[in-house]
Amino acid sequence: MIYDVTIIGGGPAGVAAGVYAARKQLKTLFITKDWNSQSTVSEGIENWIGTIKISGADFAKSLEGHLRAYAKDFVDIHTSESAEKIEKIDGGFKITTSKGSYESKTVLLTAGSFRKKLEAKGADIFEHKGLTYCASCDGPLFAGQDVVVIGGGIAAFESASQLLAYCKSVTLINRTDKFRADPVTIEAVSKNPHFKIVTNAISKEVKGEKFVNGYIYTDSKTGKDTELAVAAIFVEIGSVPTTYFAKDLVKMTEYNQIIVDPKTQRASVDGVWAAGDCTDGLYHQNNIAAGDAVKALEDIYLFLKAK
Ligand SMILES: Cc1cc2nc3c(=O)[nH]c(=O)nc-3n(C[C@H](O)[C@H](O)[C@H](O)COP(=O)(O)OP(=O)(O)OC[C@H]3O[C@@H](n4cnc5c(N)ncnc54)[C@H](O)[C@@H]3O)c2cc1C
Repeated sequence: MIYDVTIIGGGPAGVAAGVYAARKQLKTLFITKDWNSQSTVSEGIENWIGTIKISGADFAKSLEGHLRAYAKDFVDIHTSESAEKIEKIDGGFKITTSKGSYESKTVLLTAGSFRKKLEAKGADIFEHKGLTYCASCDGPLFAGQDVVVIGGGIAAFESASQLLAYCKSVTLINRTDKFRADPVTIEAVSKNPHFKIVTNAISKEVKGEKFVNGYIYTDSKTGKDTELAVAAIFVEIGSVPTTYFAKDLVKMTEYNQIIVDPKTQRASVDGVWAAGDCTDGLYHQNNIAAGDAVKALEDIYLFLKAK
């Protein structure tokens, strides 16, 4: 048996595509490691359009429920299963997973990405207790307080800029004295009198009791430790796309993001599409992941019908 389409990943991108595939009555294989999309950890998602506020956990449940409600005989849902390798074969693709192998005429890659974790003493203990990976989600909880942002790229400066709208002060901590953000953004953020930059600073320890109350860094030039009293630490040191299973299949950026045509979400090989955080799309959000996956599924449908 050969599937029309195989969707890999059960976040907003994969589920949106799955719902559309069911409605188009495509014989679909849906493989996901779990239903925990990245924002599942969020206390409250306030920008999922049509929903004023939803906890990350309920968001994950509603995605799963939506797909199961329409899957019927069209979408075979395989959970607790991970894609391991995808190869081109005659007439389609062979998908090897942790549980078996399958054949499919087309594939849609939506396995998202995961944030690079801060390596410092206490970072794991205080995750979601003041140490967070999303300024737009958790920032407002720390209004009027002193916070740090760790990172030196555009995401770090943009997070700092958002936080400066309501935090008492924002200190940006960077490992080197070079920044990956563009000079215009750096200059604009640096004009704010409540913003400070510390360079050549290596994160040493996250301190706290129930919640974060301090952060220690080591100056890499002098070896001197400095402790800052802060209520929150926003980590923006990059993310890693989950694309390892397609590394020999499609073209990727130097950061292993799948390169797609933004009009159709087609990847570099005929029959492969990608959407969401695993792609080289400029913006990564739930609504964008879902929308781009719908775009991909529409294009897959036309591709299959044209065959
Ligand atoms: C802490 C945090 C909070 C956020 N809050 C918001 C917010 O409030 N609003 C917003 O719009 N955006 C938010 N974002 C961004 C948003 O979560 C992402 O843009 C979105 O999750 C991307 O969706 P996706 O479907 O591409 O991938 P993901 O959400 O990463 O989902 C990937 C899916 O693929 C599965 N998977 C992974 N590897 C494999 C494999 N090998 N085989 C099979 N399945 C696999 C995973 O189990 C998961 O189900 C937040 C991000 C973070 C990190």
